[in-house]
Amino acid sequence: MRIEEELKLDFQDVLIRPKRSTLTSRSEVDISREFAFRHSGRSYRGVPIIAANMDTVGTFEMARALGQFQMATALHKHYGEAELVDFFRALPPAATVFYSMGITREDYEKFCRVKQLAGDAVAHVCVDVANGYTKSFIDFLQRLREKHPQITLMAGNVVTGEMAEELILDGADIVKVGIGPGSVCTTRKMTGIGYPQLSAIIECADAAHGLGGLICADGGCTSPGDLAKAFGGGADFVMLGGMLAGHDECMGEVAEQDGGRKVRFYGMSSRAAMDKHAGGVANYRASEGKEVLLDYRGPVEATVQEILGGVRSACTYVGAHKLRELSKRTTFIRVARQLNEVFGQS
Ligand code: 5GP
Repeated sequence: MRIEEELKLDFQDVLIRPKRSTLTSRSEVDISREFAFRHSGRSYRGVPIIAANMDTVGTFEMARALGQFQMATALHKHYGEAELVDFFRALPPAATVFYSMGITREDYEKFCRVKQLAGDAVAHVCVDVANGYTKSFIDFLQRLREKHPQITLMAGNVVTGEMAEELILDGADIVKVGIGPGSVCTTRKMTGIGYPQLSAIIECADAAHGLGGLICADGGCTSPGDLAKAFGGGADFVMLGGMLAGHDECMGEVAEQDGGRKVRFYGMSSRAAMDKHAGGVANYRASEGKEVLLDYRGPVEATVQEILGGVRSACTYVGAHKLRELSKRTTFIRVARQLNEVFGQS
């Protein structure tokens, strides 16, 4: 047994120090990014925020809504082949939508059939497993890269620099970072495994960038300020589940409770998800996600404006004209308290 003594940080452990700036208005800030992906060679331009590949967030409707803002969506993996083919065929060429899959033979065969019919429209793929440290995941990634040199591959999840490097060398263009920070995730509680998300981002970004790779910070953002901290820590993309949940585009089941409209939101390895997609929780495994009822929030557009406004404003405070400059201009200060909650938490 070993103990690492260095304190690792979460979003709520820090604030970003303001810096002198020549910017006069947040409207001068450009929050889009351009990347050339290391393996696929494709170029990207957009606002690097991605809706998570969860049932109720990674929907076709969300992809269309976020596309208006040049934001991306990772589709959930439970759509049927025919609807996926139709969706990708109708996708505008500039849109960034990830096809998601796990690492089973069925996942791969389904992907091949969709890709064959939808062709180059399926340009971005997210290979997603709860634990990105397994040999079977690495083997899958290597085979996928070999067979599909031109797709942009996002793969995860991991939380440490050496594994971020490994995934990039195995063929990932973007490494997805986060174990346990999610809003409906119970991995840390059920297993004791995890890594504070801001430190995971800082360490994985450093490792990935050294090899010409990119990272996507996945999970744990609860406010626009958390996205600013993730980008400030070096994240190239940020993935959001809970912050985009509860909207019209989520296609979640709506329930009435205490006279208000509520929307179901659940983790992808929660009992609710496994009951829906896998006929229940297999008896060798425990559920590592939970289900919550959220207040219905209407169309996602207002939430998106708030998120983009927050990130733009953060750039203004540190004098970053472009989102690309934010991490260079970020100094985190460790804090013991950051919000005044005298009137509640919102
Ligand atoms: P959020 O933005 O809601 O904090 O986090 C979203 C992320 O949580 C997802 O992209 C995914 O990585 C993770 N996640 C989603 N469902 C589950 C689950 O059931 N269990 C765990 N451990 N993580 C989940």
